[in-house]
Amino acid sequence: MKRLSLLLLAWALALPAQALNIFACEPEWAALAQELAGDKTSIYSATVGTQDPHRVEARPSLIAKARRADLRICTGAELEVGWLPVVLRESANPAIQPGQLGAFEAAAYVTMMDVPTRLDRSEGDVHPGGNPHIQLDPRNYLPIAQALAQRLAQLDPVNAASYQQRHASFHQNWLAAIARWEKQAAPLKGQPIAVQHKGFPYLENWLGMKEIVALEPKPGMEPSAAHLATVLGKLQTQPVRMVLRAAYQSPRPSEWLAERAHIPSVELPFTVGGDGVAKDLYGLFDDTLTRLLAGLK
Ligand SMILES: [Zn+2]
Repeated sequence: MKRLSLLLLAWALALPAQALNIFACEPEWAALAQELAGDKTSIYSATVGTQDPHRVEARPSLIAKARRADLRICTGAELEVGWLPVVLRESANPAIQPGQLGAFEAAAYVTMMDVPTRLDRSEGDVHPGGNPHIQLDPRNYLPIAQALAQRLAQLDPVNAASYQQRHASFHQNWLAAIARWEKQAAPLKGQPIAVQHKGFPYLENWLGMKEIVALEPKPGMEPSAAHLATVLGKLQTQPVRMVLRAAYQSPRPSEWLAERAHIPSVELPFTVGGDGVAKDLYGLFDDTLTRLLAGLK
């Protein structure tokens, strides 16, 4: 009898621990989960870096992944308002519904920018919670990582010590990286820029760049030729050093403007996987700064 229970115990210990299933809405949160959880979890990203995170098709494979998830990590602030509610409903997974322990929204842990004082949908894709593109200020990852490590430990107490340890080392490495990036980015301070979509307010705020104009007449709306001509006119009196766009966007509006205003058109990875260099969170910011600094030359 004793021998049998020892055998059972040995069998139980040999079983791999049930890894947490994580469903990340965007690649930056999958990358952060990877930093904090390592091989303790199985991580799936609903979108890739070259995909528009505002517009995602709620395809069956996505819904199947959501159905099996123990934890969903999304930006929130309505970035995913066009597709996530459908995925959540169709998944019929109670664990990841809003308000549950398995629902983590990164925007809840940072100070939001561009929160509208009045809500008018005629202004385009305006988000009542503020601009949702929080992933381009590296400082935002500090409170988000802390909250996420805590959440992982709550959902998977057996590995709590590991999450805590990995978070402590991420925190230290990330602070060092921020200091390095800020030093490297000094020449960008005060530089006037144009943007194709209003996707960069957090990056601008971090680096001290000044957004003079956006090419989209309203967030999410393709600029017409007439609108681009107006923008070009504005740049005669208020010149900019470069025009920025995210890797997922069509290059055409930026390039139209760049050619006529004689400024560089700079494509940024925008998230992890947006290009070949931005393979993880460190690569995302390394590459973003390299490209911005090249734009000054
Ligand atoms: Zn947007």
